[in-house]
Amino acid sequence: MPEPNFFILGVILVLLTMLFAIFTLVKMKRIRELVRIVSNLNRSLEEMDEQAKLIVRTDMELNKTQSELDKKIAGLYTLQRLSRAITTTLEEAKIFEMIEPRRLEEMGFEKALAFLWNDKERKFSLPLNIGFTQQETQGVISRLDTEIALRILEEEKTLSSFSIEEAALKESIDRIFGMKAYVIAPVLPKHGERGLLFVGTDSADVVLTEGDEELVTILANQLGQALENARLFEQTWRAQQELENKVEQRTKELTDALEKIKIISKRKSDFISAVSHELRTPLTSIKGFAAILLAEKLGALPAAVKERLEKINRHSDELVHMINDLLDIARIESGRMTMKIEPQDLKNIVASVSDLITVQCKSKNIDLVQHLEAGLPPVFADRSQIDRVFINLLGNAVKFTPQNGKITIRAERDNDHVRVDISDTGIGIPEESLESIFEEFYRIDNEINQQVKGTGLGLSLVKNIIEAHKGIISVKSKLNSGSTFSFTLPIAK
Ligand code: ADP
Repeated sequence: MPEPNFFILGVILVLLTMLFAIFTLVKMKRIRELVRIVSNLNRSLEEMDEQAKLIVRTDMELNKTQSELDKKIAGLYTLQRLSRAITTTLEEAKIFEMIEPRRLEEMGFEKALAFLWNDKERKFSLPLNIGFTQQETQGVISRLDTEIALRILEEEKTLSSFSIEEAALKESIDRIFGMKAYVIAPVLPKHGERGLLFVGTDSADVVLTEGDEELVTILANQLGQALENARLFEQTWRAQQELENKVEQRTKELTDALEKIKIISKRKSDFISAVSHELRTPLTSIKGFAAILLAEKLGALPAAVKERLEKINRHSDELVHMINDLLDIARIESGRMTMKIEPQDLKNIVASVSDLITVQCKSKNIDLVQHLEAGLPPVFADRSQIDRVFINLLGNAVKFTPQNGKITIRAERDNDHVRVDISDTGIGIPEESLESIFEEFYRIDNEINQQVKGTGLGLSLVKNIIEAHKGIISVKSKLNSGSTFSFTLPIAK
């Protein structure tokens, strides 16, 4: 039997041992790698767990923020509705009625009180009470510390149960209202009584935030604005009422005065008519006798007597003229003057009155010019009365225009009237007399009037005649430059 080869056996054993060692080493390396992978995996798992927790936390916070946001939005909607109702109310007593309990609940409160401070009576009135029983209200009023309330008003700041820093103040307010969560905001109209709005809740679920404080502050501001509007409206309305009363009273006074003036004016016209009539009769005989004497039918007269008789005659003529004017004014004013209104051609009238006035114009070397619009329509007028208007206005123009001046007669269509302007380059009329010259007996105190006689009745008569024709008369003038008298007459249709 061959002897075992120990050498080969030994080599094989060594080789086997080495193989085993190598195998073991490789395995251990693998195991270490696996351990590292497992620990890495563990760490990732932990990190993921952390992240999952973070996500859950964030989600919860988001949910909370969302519900707060929802609450805020709901509150804002309610506030908007309330604001619209409040600010469109113009009756102070109704403003607080707009805050209904369900609206208050939508804002997260179930109780509310509003106070207005009357400075004169030194006390609060209570225009709003939601949720407080009569007994509770009495309690609040009896505990309401005026000093604290006025301090809140003075400081013009909103206070809430979670934001009052001064412990003593919080304690007092808690005690006065007996509520856990609340907001107190000042109501500050610019005029009149100012006040406080208190809203509160005892609900355990409600946690008040700055958002609630803001909502109540806005509501209180809206109340202040609405009170201001209502008070201004009340003032304006009262002022308007007073004004209307005054206007009514004044209108009545004016109507009464006008009635009186009408009566007086009628009496004046009647008086003037009566006196004028009475004067006319003796005047006619004076004139008649003067005429007989002047004709020397009763014998020749000495020159001095003749001269005086001529004066009597001339003055009597002037008096007759004046009396006639006065009688006519009185007749027109009282509507007793009968007029023969017919279509008249102004061209004819202007031609004939210009003829009459030409001699006077020539004596002063005054240029008389006419500008009549072509195709002028006929006007409704009483020929003799309109002649008087022209003669008076042209007579004055000549009288008050110095040598070498100019008088212009202009006529043109003005809607359904014809307007006539008589302009001169005379002495003019002072501004303060422009209205008065149409009054009876008014004459301006100037050199010409001192030298030339006049009655101050001409323009009054002219105005009456024009107005009786449903026309208008006016004057424009510049001192030392000239005057323009304008009148209108209706077009004949
Ligand atoms: P009388 O001419 O008789 O004084 P009127 O009534 O016609 O009375 O006129 C009143 C006054 O108006 C005149 O005295 C005169 O002072 C002023 N007046 C009228 N027309 C003119 C005029 N064209 N230019 C300046 N003053 C005038």
